[in-house]
Amino acid sequence: MILILFGPPGAGKGTQASLLSKKLKIPHLSTGEILRNKLSDKDDLSLKLKEVMDSGNLVSDDILNKIVTNRIKLSDCNNGFVLDGYPRTIIQKDFLINFLNKINLSITLVIDLFINEEIIIKRIMSRLEKENRDDDRENVIKTRVEKYKAETQPLSEYFLKNYQENYHVVDGNQDIEQINSDILKLVEK
Ligand code: AMP
Repeated sequence: MILILFGPPGAGKGTQASLLSKKLKIPHLSTGEILRNKLSDKDDLSLKLKEVMDSGNLVSDDILNKIVTNRIKLSDCNNGFVLDGYPRTIIQKDFLINFLNKINLSITLVIDLFINEEIIIKRIMSRLEKENRDDDRENVIKTRVEKYKAETQPLSEYFLKNYQENYHVVDGNQDIEQINSDILKLVEK
């Protein structure tokens, strides 16, 4: 089973992906997490990555596509995986679909977490307090939301058109348990 958790920053993709990963016993692939782990390398690449991530902008498609293919090739992904934070651009989406096609796989389900903009700001601010993430400062939240609208949101149209019954919008304004239960109903269908 290959699941994509889609939605704006603060929609709860990470939380829900982690719950699904435990329930379905398949790995949770968070590209944000993989990138944040790379930052501890302190080499030239990681310094550049940190700059981009701290500004709220997107890291290049080439880097992301490489990270994801290398991860998917590992044997723990043989029974599927939950993607959180990828694909985030049309280039990444096309790349992923082609890559999966080549190895005779396809996306099982796309969950699009919908959330109101004022809740996005609230959630990211509270995450700032809890996790102390450098990219969660208030002045970069706007950039992250703008990037989402410009680069990522257009993918939902593609998914809606091409995945139809395998594409579902879930209300991300609800509490964690309710969102999880809504998603599980779709997964178990
Ligand atoms: P996230 O934890 O998913 O919000 O990701 C944190 C940051 O990592 C983002 O703001 C981007 O700078 C970068 N990032 C994560 N995933 C991607 C992706 N698929 N494409 C480009 N940049 C990404």
